[in-house]
This record gives sequence, C-alpha cells and structure tokens, in this order.
Amino acid sequence: MADITTDVLVIGTGPAGSATAALLATQGVDVMVVNRYRWLANSPRAHITNQRTMEVLRDLGPEVEHEAYLHATPKELMGNNVFCTSLAGEELGRIATWGTSPASAAEHALSSPTAMNDLPQTYMEPLLFKTACARGAQGRMSCEYLSHEQDADGVTATLRDRLTVRDFTVRARYLVGADGGNSLVAEHAGIPLEGQMGVAGSINLLCKMDLSAYVAHRPSVLYWVMQPGSNVGGIGMGVVRMVRPWNEWLIIWGYDITKPRPELTEEEAKAIIRQLVGVPDIEIDLTAISYWTVNNVYATHMQNGRVFVMGDAAHRHPPSNGLGSNTSIQDAFNMAWKLSMVLKGQASPALLDSYSPERAPVAKQIVTRANKSIPEFGPIFQALGMDGSFDHARIQANMDARCDATPEAEAQREALRQAIAYKKYEFDAHGVEMNQRYSSGAIVTDGQPEPPFTQDAELHYQPTTWPGARLPHVWVFDTKGRKLSTLDLCGQGQFTLLTGIGGQPWVEAAQAEAAKRGIPLRTHVIGPRQPIADHSGDWARAREISDAGCLLVRPDHHVAWRSPALSADPAGDLSRVLTAILGK
Ligand SMILES: Cc1cc2nc3c(=O)[nH]c(=O)nc-3n(C[C@H](O)[C@H](O)[C@H](O)COP(=O)(O)OP(=O)(O)OC[C@H]3O[C@@H](n4cnc5c(N)ncnc54)[C@H](O)[C@@H]3O)c2cc1C
Repeated sequence: MADITTDVLVIGTGPAGSATAALLATQGVDVMVVNRYRWLANSPRAHITNQRTMEVLRDLGPEVEHEAYLHATPKELMGNNVFCTSLAGEELGRIATWGTSPASAAEHALSSPTAMNDLPQTYMEPLLFKTACARGAQGRMSCEYLSHEQDADGVTATLRDRLTVRDFTVRARYLVGADGGNSLVAEHAGIPLEGQMGVAGSINLLCKMDLSAYVAHRPSVLYWVMQPGSNVGGIGMGVVRMVRPWNEWLIIWGYDITKPRPELTEEEAKAIIRQLVGVPDIEIDLTAISYWTVNNVYATHMQNGRVFVMGDAAHRHPPSNGLGSNTSIQDAFNMAWKLSMVLKGQASPALLDSYSPERAPVAKQIVTRANKSIPEFGPIFQALGMDGSFDHARIQANMDARCDATPEAEAQREALRQAIAYKKYEFDAHGVEMNQRYSSGAIVTDGQPEPPFTQDAELHYQPTTWPGARLPHVWVFDTKGRKLSTLDLCGQGQFTLLTGIGGQPWVEAAQAEAAKRGIPLRTHVIGPRQPIADHSGDWARAREISDAGCLLVRPDHHVAWRSPALSADPAGDLSRVLTAILGK
C-alpha cells in the first residue's frame, strides 16, 4: 500500500511540469507535482515567450495571460539583436527580431490573439506553479524522485522528502517526467534518446548594472559581442542578455568542454562582464555564476506505458531560437487534455498513445533547428575576418578592412549584411514556432492531402484547417459585438465544433454525441444573425470549408477533423470520428 495516491504524479516544477499541473488542475484532475529543490527557477534561463505559448496561458484564463504580460518585457522592447565589439564599442550590424520588423509584426498580428514577449523563467515558473496550486494541484517541494515501477493499473514511485530525509511511495495512474535535461524518469523508463549531450560549455553570469546609456536607444534582448577570444557555447562570442530593462543582465560566456569546468572567481566574472560591456569601471552587482552545457539530444519516443516525458527531459538543445520552455509548455498542452479525458473515462487510454507521435517529431525538429543556429553564426565571423585565432591585431585589421573604399571591402560589407540577415532563421523563425501539424490516431484526415507550404516553413506561419494543424486565428464577434479570437471559441479542456449557416445538423449531431459520451463538446455557428458573426469575412477566408461544412477542434486548438460540406450522415460521421479519436 503506497503512502499517497494521486491520479497523475508530475516530477518537476519547471515550465513543463508546472504547466501540466496547472492544466490538469484546471480540469479538476487529481495531480501532484514535486520538485527536489525548495525553490522554483532561481535563474532567468528561458525568456523568449512565443505566441503559441501565450495561447496556452490564455487558455488557462485571462488572469494568467494578463499576469504574464504584466511581468514581461513587451515585444516592442525586444527590438533588434545588435552585433557589436562591445556595448560601448562599435556596432557591426543589427537584425530585427521576434516579430518586431514591420513585415514580421504584421504576420504575428495576423496569426494569433497573443503577442510574443520576453518573460524570464523566474516569472513564468511561479505563474504556472501558482496557477496549479491555486486550482488544487498538490505541490510538494524538497521532494526528490528516486525510482518508479509500473504495472497494468498504475505506477508506484519512490520519492524522498529532503526535509525529513524519509523515503515514501506515491501510487499514481500516470507518471509524467518533466524533470529536465538530466531526466531520471526518462532514464528509468528507458526512453530512447538520440544525439549527444555536452557539445559545448557555457557560463551564465547574472548581474545588476545600469546599461541604459548603451542600450535604451536601441532596445534588444540580446547583444552579441564579437571580440577575439570570446567563445560562448560554441558560438564564438559573448552574449549580453537583458533580464529586466535596462538594469538586470545575464552574461553568457563559453568554456572549453574538453577541459575541466572553470570555477570563476567574482573578480574574473566581473572582468568578463566589463570586457563585453566595454566600460572598464562600470559598477556591477554580481548575483550568481552558473554553468550549463549545450546539448543536442531528443527522444524518438516519449512514452513507456503509463510513463510520459516532456520538456527538456525529451528535448535538450541550446537556447538558440528560444524554444526550450516554449516547447515544454506546448508539450504539456498536448498531454493534459488527453490525460484528463482518459482519467474521467471519456476516452480510452489509447488516446494517450497519440502524445508521442505528435510531440516526438516536434522534439526532433526543435533540437535540430536550435543546434543548426549555432554554426549559422559562422558566416558573420568569416565576413569580419575573425578566424578563430587570438591574434587581436590581425583580427582588428580584418575587421577594419571592411571600411575601405575597395571592391574587396564592398564584397566584405555585402557578405556581412547577408550573414546577419540570415540569422532570421534563429531570431525571427515564426514558422518554427507556429507551424506544428500533427499526425496520429487522434487526428482524422479522411485522406485529405496536407497543403504544401507556399513560403519558407521555418520563417513563415501558414494557417490551414487541414486536420492536425492548429486552428487559424481570426477575430470574430459575439452578439454584443465583442471581439473574440476563433481560438477563444475553443480549448479550455473541451472539443469544439465550428460550423456556419446550413450546418445545424452538425450541431444537433455534436450535442447528441456529447450527451451520449459524456464528453465536453460545445458548438458554435458562425455567420450573419448567428451567435458568432464574421463581420470582416476573415473566418470565411480562413476556414477552408463551406458554410455548412464543419471543423471539429480538439481541446489543444488542433483541428481533429473537418468536413468540407454538410455530409449525408452528420451523426454517423461525427460518431465515427469521435470513436476513432477517443478510442471508445
Ligand atoms: C541560458 C539559457 C537561456 C534559455 N533561453 C530560453 C528561451 O529564451 N526560451 C525558451 O523557451 N527556453 C530557453 N531556455 C531553455 C529553458 O530554460 C528550458 O528548455 C526549460 O527550463 C525546460 O523546462 P522543463 O520544465 O522541461 O525543465 P526544467 O526547467 O529543467 O525543470 C526541471 C524540474 O525538474 C526538477 N527535478 C529534476 N530532477 C528531479 C528529481 N529527481 N526529483 C524531483 N524533481 C526533479 C527540477 O528541480 C525542476 O523543477 C534557455 C536555457 C538556458 C540555459
């Protein structure tokens, strides 16, 4: 007999674990979430928060979404990534990032009701964890996962209370390993991982210093300092990252992973900071020094029976593209509704088998993308004549040469411009963030072919209602004229059927199915004099079905199935589709 029983035991209160607990608790699921430390994130690692993640927070409720914006540095201040010789030194170039260029800003505005922002992990984690606890999750700190065993009915985990140093057992129906890049759960569950850990070494120097004079006129969250001799995470430069504008900063510096890890003294750390800032006597309040490694590892399968892994436990990669915490929270959004419906008896456990086929390809994609972004700095170094040597005079001469009035210098300037512009694949890859299309047993395409991408799929989001894709966002209006996103019509743990004038038989069939199965399924009719109006016509342009067709949308906003028109047997079709998805 276990000491404690719960339906879901989540190991880890990072972005993945806290989001899972918050989403499950919101659905009234009995969930316990544990963290071996007594604190939540104690350093602001993740910060770039993309629109898809904000949609998850919006789904958790307006108070959660608003609090995130309250603490976040807004998109406007995320500005241009700056390349320079030091913050006080010469600027070498810049690139508009994260949806801040006019063209990209328009794409962002058209894609989502939410806005990209910079929310350090030290704010995101408490927000998610607080939401989880406020909604009934059992949060337990100083509580370390040691091992687990699973059988046909559940999982028994052994945990250690680090305050009493006593071990105890928890019996759960399901175990979620959200225990980060050194996941013990993944190891114990035999989760297959591909790739290499420890590709490069990095040092984080967290500090307070007022840099307004060097940055306020050119806002950015990342300043890349290119000096001979600086080497961060295999990138070959130092990074000055804004934590709070403009007086709290994280300096990222590299170390040689083939050598023993350095132990920087406070003075050495401050010397690095001063070198990157370029102001010898700048006042620095150094608050923390920490070390981390660049990894290149992803799980090829994220489930073993009743055990699931998510977040860094399943995808381990450098911070490039800012995808780690975002993908972790999005893993949770995929998993939570499935667990909730299975635990409530609304779906068969087979629904959970769709988690890995849907999220493992994303894990591979983002790990690959983030690691690819590192060598893509190479052409910038080449254009500047930074050849990896420590001969400062030679490198300075190479950099100076680009200012000459010669054809060679003109070619060098053009090479630098192109190299910097190419970094949009790291700093403005909206497609990587938004184009996730699922294929699994929880999606029914009825043989409809996937629409090809007409633009670069990494850079540009392409909306579609093809089953598996996220429901496109457009603004629609309720009977009081209030503006709602199409995403607001969906989610919150429910399936949603969207149809238009002439689609009433779908509504009746959906209501009958919902009553028969006891599942949360709501319906919306969109059209003139209907409960939801499409005054702008944007929905008619986005939906890719006729008025009397329908879209069945999953609780995680992904289209589960669509019918282009009213079918001969709406009740039979919906029943067939829901049976396929829910496995019962
Ligand atoms: C410098 C830097 C910058 C980054 N920038 C970004 C960014 O801009 N955007 C972005 O999206 N991502 C970014 N990331 C990545 C991001 O921090 C991670 O991807 C994210 O924290 C992963 O969340 P997680 O919940 O999976 O794991 P973690 O945040 O690592 O959380 C793991 C949790 O599990 C707990 N745990 C571990 N083992 C045990 C155990 N045995 N028992 C109990 N508890 C345990 C830990 O205490 C912790 O609570 C950055 C990372 C770094 C280092």
